[in-house]
Amino acid sequence: MQIPGHIDPVPVARDFTPRADGRVDLIGLPRARIAELFAEAGLDPRQAKLRAKQVFHWLYHRGVTEFEAMTDIAKPMRPWLTERFVIGRPEVVEAQHSTDGTRKWLLRTPDGHDFEMVFIPDADRGTLCVSSQVGCTLNCTFCHTGTMKLVRNLTPGEIVGQVMLARDALGEWPRGRMDVAEEEDEAEYTSDGRLLTNIVMMGMGEPLYNFDNVRDALRLVMDGDGLALSKRRITLSTSGVVPMMARCGEEIGVNLAVSLHATNKQVRDEIVPLNRKYGLEQLLEACAAYPGASNARRITFEYVMLKDKNDSDDDARELVRLINQFKLPAKVNLIPFNPWPGAGYECSSPERIRRFSEIVFEGGISAPVRTPRGRDIDAACGQLKTAAEKKSRAQLDREQAAVAAGHDAQAAE
Ligand code: SAH
Ligand code: SF4
Repeated sequence: MQIPGHIDPVPVARDFTPRADGRVDLIGLPRARIAELFAEAGLDPRQAKLRAKQVFHWLYHRGVTEFEAMTDIAKPMRPWLTERFVIGRPEVVEAQHSTDGTRKWLLRTPDGHDFEMVFIPDADRGTLCVSSQVGCTLNCTFCHTGTMKLVRNLTPGEIVGQVMLARDALGEWPRGRMDVAEEEDEAEYTSDGRLLTNIVMMGMGEPLYNFDNVRDALRLVMDGDGLALSKRRITLSTSGVVPMMARCGEEIGVNLAVSLHATNKQVRDEIVPLNRKYGLEQLLEACAAYPGASNARRITFEYVMLKDKNDSDDDARELVRLINQFKLPAKVNLIPFNPWPGAGYECSSPERIRRFSEIVFEGGISAPVRTPRGRDIDAACGQLKTAAEKKSRAQLDREQAAVAAGHDAQAAE
């Protein structure tokens, strides 16, 4: 999957550091793995399976962070669990609030990598924008995240941990019945009145370059006895990793968003360099074949509005033509370019964006303009970038060693 070079450089994937105290973090693990760990720690297989089912429910459905809170687990069993396991959450380094209500969290992995997550409240829903990697190996020219040098895939626990942290912060874990639910399905868990109703894999990173971990995390999110969010409320955005798109549809079945951004090879090669590897036609064919796409569940094409680059009337008409040519059930999201220091682009004028949108609408395709959110705290699309790349690899290794030795990472600086 990884092709060295400018288009697709090899990610700097390093193993994350095991905890110094030897305990295992359960967050990110499925039921079956939890049962295996319980059996390895000495429970007989039947007990292990039963306990795993109970613990799974407490972890992912109720959101408890201590084994002591698991009231249907026998009292002596709880310290047994505490000695061997932990219930982790990503460390919060900073939490920011935008004037428009958008919230951004700077988070840190146990081995000292920083990444971000964003919550965008609206009148009728609330969307959590989740990161899949620290940084991104792709170099889309208009994206701040793409300029980060350090890259590491986030683990399933670090991905589902973002959603869990958001539920913590918003106080949105289901209350009520304290025993293990018999068969609780997602229908019982409605979005009525909730703040966090939707998830988009549109934070840092290319989710289809970390597919296995993203899939495992989203399975926990979609599990009726887990976070119980319907796949219809989850959207994964890709810059066009064609070979992974079918698996995404088959194995997780979430909504697909594709960062199209251009309608011809020349411009797309320039601004989304991955296009040199997987060209427009191939990409649109993969979209046409995306499992589960239909008029009821359309594919979203994201289109960033860059002044004098991709925003002409001809571009808009070509966009309509392509969508029709490939018979795609599609809608288009026009994203005004969000500036960042040193970016070589300007956002198209509001009149230009309006005209572009009109042409696409006239072609029979919905093309709303996305209102930028959280720009004042650099939380808008493409603005996410942490200071992680300012640290040298040696510094990170020192911090990692300090964490492993049980010291405060900062003390090693
Ligand atoms: N890597 C994935 C998902 C994360 S980016 C992808 O590229 O699809 C989420 C969206 O924000 C993408 O459509 C991306 O192209 C867009 N984006 C990136 N930088 C932007 C910027 N500066 N202004 C507006 N949108 C941007
Ligand atoms: Fe990576 Fe997406 Fe940014 Fe491109 S737009 S550099 S794929 S995060």
